[in-house]
Amino acid sequence: MISFEDAKQKILEGIVPIKETEEIKVISSLNHILASDIIASFDIPPHNNSAMDGYALRYEDISQTEEVRLKVIGELPAGKSFDRKIKTGEALRIMTGAPMPKGADTVVIQEVTLSDGDWVSIPPLAAKFGANVRLQGEDIKKGELILQRGTRIRPQEMGMLASMGYGMVNVYRQLKVAIISTGDELISIGEKRAPGKIYDSNRYCLTGLLTSLGVEIIDLGIVKDARDLIEAKFKEASERTDVVITSGGVSVGKYDLVREVVDSLGKVEFWQVKIKPGKPLSFGKIGNCYFFGLPGNPVSVIVSFIKFVRCGLLKMAGCKEYDKSTLFKARANFQMSRKQMRLEWLRGILSYGEDGWVVTTTGPQGSGILRSMISANCLIQILPEQMEVVKGDEVWVEPLEWG
Ligand code: AMP
Ligand code: MG
Repeated sequence: MISFEDAKQKILEGIVPIKETEEIKVISSLNHILASDIIASFDIPPHNNSAMDGYALRYEDISQTEEVRLKVIGELPAGKSFDRKIKTGEALRIMTGAPMPKGADTVVIQEVTLSDGDWVSIPPLAAKFGANVRLQGEDIKKGELILQRGTRIRPQEMGMLASMGYGMVNVYRQLKVAIISTGDELISIGEKRAPGKIYDSNRYCLTGLLTSLGVEIIDLGIVKDARDLIEAKFKEASERTDVVITSGGVSVGKYDLVREVVDSLGKVEFWQVKIKPGKPLSFGKIGNCYFFGLPGNPVSVIVSFIKFVRCGLLKMAGCKEYDKSTLFKARANFQMSRKQMRLEWLRGILSYGEDGWVVTTTGPQGSGILRSMISANCLIQILPEQMEVVKGDEVWVEPLEWG
């Protein structure tokens, strides 16, 4: 048996990021990986502008002690500009986002003023110098590096690219990932249930997990536990895709043929990893295609995807921060004890209350019990040397985020 860290390190060391890039539309760039640095070609905001609806004026015109009346020389909505300079004794009615007129340095919010025809009353101490003005370039300065190559594009990066005027963006090409389920007992949705058969749910979990990674998914269906069929399917998959992910057939049973087949077609490592769930795992290559053989049990599929496959795919896709996870401590509102020392992930429900972060388990935790994931919003990480958890203990939790 090898440790979790060793298995993960071997996977990450074995994976070489792709080099090919493509230009795609920013509007459909979610979850793609930037292939070039993005440098700002102009300031944002492009001009000083008002942060509030109110009156643009000269700070020196506000009195420290008494109310003053200023002449309102016009009105400026967002999207327009005002050419005249604001002189002493004058104010311009201004809306949020409208550019500051020349001469004015401060905006007094509308709520504290009293308007009277062409005049406005400004109370004493109505604003500090420069109040309610957003400065040119305060978000971004021309020439600044705003997004780095290797960044995974999220909604905020899409918006940033758009505000820089980009309609197209240079990204690493999308990975092609094949998914295959193995097992004589599996039937596809639409097929009639029969004794001994179960519906194949792993391809659905994997499709969900892969969709949020932004890869192209090639669903190659189910393959029976027969050597020649598995061989043909794996060969086809490896010729068409960058990565093949299979589930089932990696244990030590008589019909667990996955490892044997991959070994004959390419090179595979098979590990018993000291973790629960997800103990058997294989990783290797068939030609230029990477291969992940995940266990068959649905919970094991999800956990080993999160722990091993996700970071591997992100690294291959060109992402810089491919191995990031958010772990924090919470108080256990459950107890457990066990005999074996290994890293274990329970499915948990994390909530925040008077006592801070508290976590409880989702009920039966067998790796075949997919239901244990349904109410879960986190994984509870039990360290190898932690033989028991009692209520009130601190445990590490990791929110389940599929992105
Ligand atoms: P295996 O590793 O092939 O022995 O599979 C372990 C367990 O997971 C068995 O109970 C299988 O029936 C189940 N299993 C394997 N593949 C799937 C699948 N695609 N969907 C649901 N359950 C599966
Ligand atoms: Mg099987």
